[in-house]
Amino acid sequence: MSNSYVLVVNSGSSSLKFAVIDSQSGDAIVSGLGECFGLSEAVISWKYQGEKTEETIDYPDNHHQHAVDRIVKLIESLGLNDNIIAIGHRVVHGGEKFTSTVRINEQVITEIEQLAELAPLHNLAHVKGIRAAVKAFPSLPQFVVFDTAFHQTMPKKAYRDAIPTELYDEYAIRRYGFHGTSHYYVSREAAKMLDKDVNDTNVISVHLGNGASVCAIRDGQSVDTSMGFTPQAGLMMGTRSGDIDPGIIEFLLKKGWTQEQVFDTLYKKSGFLGLSGLTSDARGVLEAMEQGNEDAKLAFEVFTYRVAKYIASYMIPLQRVDAIIFTGGIGENSLPIRREILNYLRVFGFVEDEAGNEAARFGNSGVIARSELHNAVAMVIPTNEELVIVRESVALLD
Ligand code: ADP
Repeated sequence: MSNSYVLVVNSGSSSLKFAVIDSQSGDAIVSGLGECFGLSEAVISWKYQGEKTEETIDYPDNHHQHAVDRIVKLIESLGLNDNIIAIGHRVVHGGEKFTSTVRINEQVITEIEQLAELAPLHNLAHVKGIRAAVKAFPSLPQFVVFDTAFHQTMPKKAYRDAIPTELYDEYAIRRYGFHGTSHYYVSREAAKMLDKDVNDTNVISVHLGNGASVCAIRDGQSVDTSMGFTPQAGLMMGTRSGDIDPGIIEFLLKKGWTQEQVFDTLYKKSGFLGLSGLTSDARGVLEAMEQGNEDAKLAFEVFTYRVAKYIASYMIPLQRVDAIIFTGGIGENSLPIRREILNYLRVFGFVEDEAGNEAARFGNSGVIARSELHNAVAMVIPTNEELVIVRESVALLD
């Protein structure tokens, strides 16, 4: 039997990530990135058999379509066409409409477009990528996997904000949560590693990357998560503030700041970048801290303290926890950050497994702490959102 591959597309406003993935092994055959869309120097690059190639996109506009057209040619030239059985797209916002992966048709595209009110930058960019792919691969079945879908199982008490009900009824203002594909993936992997039925497994999934969120998963279902109406809520992140008192916004507006200045600051200049004054990148912050930089140390302390507080609060919806899972670039790699968070979790009986914590890096999973009190482990599991997109697409094909 010949190999079957899925083309995974993640289309952003100024970029488009893609990968052709073997649906059995999960290996990427070729993966790449189109970027600087909308600028004069739009480029597309890809990695195939360890070798990287980069080309400029020599068109003045419509870079999403030209990038996808280039991907079609690339796939042809590598002789992969006949093996591709489906295309899976990542979409950030599925609102309350989409609770699982769906096959793309015109109505689905229109609905994603309508949901752009909730995620203007993301959803419209996704639609550009989807339309380009539908045009370029008219005969292939295509699917959309939503970042919000996994959290649609949250109970009302978790997803409603304590603001007038009219705002929910009229504008659909509520907590949606994001990173659902990652939380879903690691919770399933954790159940496998613990040799438990996922429907009887309670985990706290801690995704720490440039964006960061925590999710309480009870019996395999999301019951609470730290991101809310937008991915700005919850934890401190690379450049995002996470939870702040909304009174700060009012205060700054009264001080004469424009709306743009306020939101630009909270979205793009806060978090690790804002507190350290140096960089949004956790590695850079840790390096500066090691060299004695006090601002970097504060950024580290605020970040780890807040993550630990969120984890502790999710003991309430779960009552019983089997595993705390660290994932995302920071969660998978940063020993000092995990160690500091685990120190706070001593209150729940967690004792660091130092050798385990040191070994679980750079793509390795493993147990990094144990709690006899809760009969639970803390573990690292590298996330793989693309693999979920591949599996969900193949499952719907069948
Ligand atoms: P995104 O949310 O954009 O997908 P990632 O999940 O790739 O981001 O995470 C990026 C973050 O992971 C950055 O802050 C980076 O510094 C951090 N990171 C990656 N490797 C390490 C490492 N070895 N130690 C500490 N942080 C790391």
